[in-house]
Amino acid sequence: MPKLYSILIIIVLLLAIAISTYLLAPTQHKANVEETQETTNYTVEVAVVVDNYGFNGYETTWGISVLVETGNNHTILFDTGPSPRILRENLAKLGYSLSDIDYVVISHEHHDHCGGLEVFRNMGLRVYVPLKASKALKDYVKSLGLTLVEVNDTLNIIDNVYVIGELYGPPWEQALAVNVSGKGLVIIVGCAHPGILSIVKKACKDLHAKPYIVLGGFHLAGASESKIAKIASKLAEIVTYKIYPIHCSGDGFRRLLENRFPEKYGDGHVGLVIRV
Ligand SMILES: [Zn+2]
Ligand SMILES: [Zn+2]
Repeated sequence: MPKLYSILIIIVLLLAIAISTYLLAPTQHKANVEETQETTNYTVEVAVVVDNYGFNGYETTWGISVLVETGNNHTILFDTGPSPRILRENLAKLGYSLSDIDYVVISHEHHDHCGGLEVFRNMGLRVYVPLKASKALKDYVKSLGLTLVEVNDTLNIIDNVYVIGELYGPPWEQALAVNVSGKGLVIIVGCAHPGILSIVKKACKDLHAKPYIVLGGFHLAGASESKIAKIASKLAEIVTYKIYPIHCSGDGFRRLLENRFPEKYGDGHVGLVIRV
């Protein structure tokens, strides 16, 4: 009988250990990770923090926010989505806190791109906005106690990360590019009001490199079939790895790219992490 008791106690103990291990496991990094090379060897991590294309456990809303972490652990947030709360919560789910963010880049003045900025109130961060952006956007940045940096020409922020200077949509809009040696540019766009091909072309010209990945809103929802077909084939021709159309790219563009150029199509959504 004592032997049976000790076996029972051991079983109960083992169960308790298993349950507590499960409950205490970190809930972050529950992301969809895509790797373009060995995990141990990547130099840039790109994470979609806010998007209107959903994924398990992440809140989905109309807007975009993308985080870039360089090999030297510098973290740049490109756009903020419309909501401070969703930005904060989705960052936490990806394993980042607000204090991890070193710089913020705002593509353009529309609310679905800058509405979440408030989470950084009084944190003194540098916020890069297009030189010709509205006074309302610039005043908003300053009113939050943040450091306004106006960008006209393409500018290096830190490490291999660049703001691609403003182009006219309307409105004036800038993009972000990471120059990954041996691969090419990872280009991230907000809404692409000036046209996705114009932005990619400018990034390549200014940084003397080829596009490896293009990710973001391509502003093609509701565009004609012939227009999206033309843009899809041009992008598929010049982008050497993958194209991730999210936010305002439109379902029509996503499906056409996926059907005609499946090897170049990336299924983008909130919670996606790409390691390059
Ligand atoms: Zn916009
Ligand atoms: Zn937008």
